[in-house]
Amino acid sequence: SVKTNGKGGYQFFEAGFHATLRARLELEAELRAAVAHDEFTMVYQPRIDVITGATLSLEALVRWQHPSRGLLEPREFIALAEETGLIVGIGELVIDKVCAQLAAWTSPGGELVPVSVNVSPRQFSHANVADLVTAALDRHGVPARLFEVEITESSMMESGSQAPRMLEALHAQGVKILVDDFGTGYSSLSQLQKLDFDVLKVDQAFTAEIAHTNESRVFFTAIVTMAHALGMRVVAEGVESLEQVRILKSLDCDEIQGYYISPPLPPGDAQPVAPRAALAAMS
Ligand code: C2E
Ligand code: MG
Ligand code: MG
Ligand code: MG
Repeated sequence: SVKTNGKGGYQFFEAGFHATLRARLELEAELRAAVAHDEFTMVYQPRIDVITGATLSLEALVRWQHPSRGLLEPREFIALAEETGLIVGIGELVIDKVCAQLAAWTSPGGELVPVSVNVSPRQFSHANVADLVTAALDRHGVPARLFEVEITESSMMESGSQAPRMLEALHAQGVKILVDDFGTGYSSLSQLQKLDFDVLKVDQAFTAEIAHTNESRVFFTAIVTMAHALGMRVVAEGVESLEQVRILKSLDCDEIQGYYISPPLPPGDAQPVAPRAALAAMS
């Protein structure tokens, strides 16, 4: 800390620093209690086929029902959870909740659609995610084909990471593996060859650009070509307009997800999935 403004400035800086630190420690203590008392709930956002409009899967997204501050979104606590390791406990609760929900949903005359669960890199180094998922599926009597895992590429890149081994074990049981937020962070195309991924989710930052620049459409087309050559389907995340839907269809994108299609839904509204008008009618 540099004293630039005399004693007053220094104290101001210190006071601000302490306030930030105190708020962080408080949030950490609350988050620890939240794991102990299970204050988490899940919402489910559909991912649909761009041609037929059929719901293919639901992405499980965690929410924290904070005792005084209301329902908190991941941006308010996931980073802290990852830094403190609390993400491991949260992850266990999430996996169990999703399997319990899959067992509770019924779909008269139809099949349930699978649920995809986000798993952070940190979870792989502190827990055997494959064993956790297998045990939770068994506990609730849920078939593996109803469970999907979303991981970012950074999980794969960390040297010595157990992620590839665990993901392969899950994949062998019929769990689908999705690459999340593709195109951001330390993306490396070579990572995609290393594992048998099923689906590539292109980050919403790219979806936001496709209606605006030719470069972004060229880039998206290259991703689709590569993914299809590797046997993967492509999802565009963060679809917010009909114009984006039309462009994505023309770029041979397979699946879409975003507020234009549906926001994340409470469990009771998510399954059984409502029949949806074919998107073909839109183009
Ligand atoms: P993600 O996995 O990439 O999830 C997509 C995020 O984008 C979700 O935010 C979703 O609500 C939001 N979204 C969906 N459609 C649109 C759209 O059209 N426009 C915009 N602007 N946003 C859209 P959410 O639920 O706040 O989650 C944020 C991130 O937190 C997730 O990004 C994921 O990385 C992480 N996360 C969420 N749930 C879990 C969890 O259970 N475990 C772990 N480890 N991470 C989680
Ligand atoms: Mg995701
Ligand atoms: Mg994503
Ligand atoms: Mg994201």
